[in-house]
Amino acid sequence: MPNAITGSPYELSRTELFPGNYIAGQWEDQEEGRLICRNPSNNEILGELPNSGRDAARRAIAAAAACQKEWTRTSQWERADLCEKLGNAIKARQDELARLLSLEQGKPLAEAHAEVGLASHGFHMAAQQVRYMTGEVLHGTAKGRQVISHRHPRGVYAVITPWNFPVNIPVEYIAPGIATGNAIVWVPAPSTSLVAVALMRVLHDAGIPQGLVNLVVGEGAIVGDEIVSNTGTHAIGFTGSTKTGQIIAQRGAGKPMILELGGNGPLIVRKDADLEKAAAAAAVGAFTNCGQICSATGRVLADRHIAFELAERIAALAEAQVLGNPLAQGTTMGPLNNNAVARKVREHVEEAIAAKARCLTGGRPLPQLGSDLFYAPTVLGDVTPSMRVAHEETFGPVVPVVPLDGDDELLRVAKEGGYGLSIGIFSKDIELALAMSGELSAGITNINESTFYWETHMPFGGSSGSVSGTGRIGGRSAIEAMTEVRTLSIPVTSYCKP
Ligand code: NAD
Repeated sequence: MPNAITGSPYELSRTELFPGNYIAGQWEDQEEGRLICRNPSNNEILGELPNSGRDAARRAIAAAAACQKEWTRTSQWERADLCEKLGNAIKARQDELARLLSLEQGKPLAEAHAEVGLASHGFHMAAQQVRYMTGEVLHGTAKGRQVISHRHPRGVYAVITPWNFPVNIPVEYIAPGIATGNAIVWVPAPSTSLVAVALMRVLHDAGIPQGLVNLVVGEGAIVGDEIVSNTGTHAIGFTGSTKTGQIIAQRGAGKPMILELGGNGPLIVRKDADLEKAAAAAAVGAFTNCGQICSATGRVLADRHIAFELAERIAALAEAQVLGNPLAQGTTMGPLNNNAVARKVREHVEEAIAAKARCLTGGRPLPQLGSDLFYAPTVLGDVTPSMRVAHEETFGPVVPVVPLDGDDELLRVAKEGGYGLSIGIFSKDIELALAMSGELSAGITNINESTFYWETHMPFGGSSGSVSGTGRIGGRSAIEAMTEVRTLSIPVTSYCKP
C-alpha cells in the first residue's frame, strides 16, 4: 500500500524512510502484519507500520540490556547533557511533531503544540533533576563505619503508553528513565504509532546512543505483554486503563511498577460556589482533548440548590465549542480518537437518557463533520450516581451533572466508584473545602480549580486503595521512582572519627 504521508510537515513519520521499529539504533520493518494508521477526523489512511510480534520485543530488550551496561557507567552530568540535547531537538521540531500529533490523535493543533512543548520541557526537567540527585551518608553503630546510600538505575524499563497524550506521556518515563541510567523498551498505543515513530526519529537524529531507547510498534496484548513479562526487563512504567493495568500487575508481578491508570474525577460544587468559575472549570476539564484525559472532569456533583443553573452554564460553554478539522484555525474540539472510546461514550449517554437524565445539549455523534468519531459536547442534568455515565470513566466530552443534598451527600458520592486520581472542589469557604479534601482520597485535589489542573513537575498518580494506579510520576517523583536506593558500607575504623 502506498504511503499517504509525503513531504513537509509530515516528513518525520514517512514510513518508507522510517519503517517503524527502532531497535539497537536501527530502523526495522517486519512483514508479520501491518498496522493501518488513520486520521480520526476523516478516516483517511495516514500510513502503515509493522504489527510486530514477540521476537521484535525480545530483540529490543536485548538491545536495551546491552546498552544499559555501558549507560549506567556514565555520570549524571553526561546524562543530563544528553537530555538537554533531546529537549532542544524536540523544541526545534515542535511544529512538525504537533501537526502530526493533531492529525493522528485528533486534538486541536494548539493543544498538540502545547503537548509537544511539555515533552521538550520534560527532558530539560529530567536534566535539572538528575544533576542534583543525591544520596545520604549514614553512620554505623560501630565507630568509623561509613555507610552510603545512593540512587541506582533499575536497569531495562518496559514503558507502555496510551493514545491520549502520545508524545508527552512517553517522555514522562523516557526522560527521567535515561537521565537516571536506565535503558528503555517502549511500546506505544497502536492508534498513535506514527507520532511515536516521529518522536523516536527526533531522538535518533539528535544522536541518542544505540539501544538506549527502543521502539516496538504492535498490539499491546502481544508486544506490550512480552516486555512486561520477559525476565529481561527489570521495571515497568505503564499509563493506560485500569483494566490493562490490572493485567500488567499480574504479568509483571515482582517487578517495580509505576501504574498510572484511569480516573473519573468528581468536580464537587457547593451551593456557595462561584458558578461562573465552576462552570468554566467543568468545561475545561471535560472538553479539553475531547474529554480523553485521565484527570478529566468525569462527573459534576452539585448541591441541588445550584445544580440546574450550573448545568445550564456548562451547556452554554459546550455550545460555544467549535468542532471540526483539528488542524483548522479556530477549532477547539476534534474527534474522539478511536471506535472503542466512541462506542463507550455513545453507550453511557444513551443509557443515561433512557434512564431519564435530561440532555441539555449534545448527546449525539456528528458524522457530518467528517467521521463517526465526532461527538457533540454533551451536558446531562438530573443524573443519578448509579448511572454508568457518572459511575464509570466515560473518557469523552460529556458532563453528567448529579444534583445532591448538602455536603455529606456530596462527599459520600464523591467517594463512590473506586477511582482516586483527581478531584476538584468549588466553594467560597476555603476552610470547609480543605476539610472536605481531607475526607477524600486522590493523588491531586484542586480547590477552586478544574480536576485537570496539574503541572509536570508536581507528583501525579492514583491514591492507595483506589483503582487509579500506584506510584508517582512528575519532576523529582519520577527520578525517585525510576531508581532504587542501594547501600554501601565500609568499615574504616582506623581512619575516621565522626
Ligand atoms: P489501554 O489500557 O487500552 O492501552 C494502554 C496501552 O496498553 C496501549 O499501548 C495498549 O496497546 C497497551 N496494552 C493493551 N493491552 C495490553 C496488555 N495485555 N499488556 C501490555 N500492554 C497492553 O488504555 P488506552 O485506551 O490507550 O488509554 C486510555 C486509558 O488510559 C484511560 O483509562 C485513561 O484514564 C488512562 N490514562 C491514565 C493516565 C494517568 O496518568 N493516570 C494518563 C493517561 C491515560
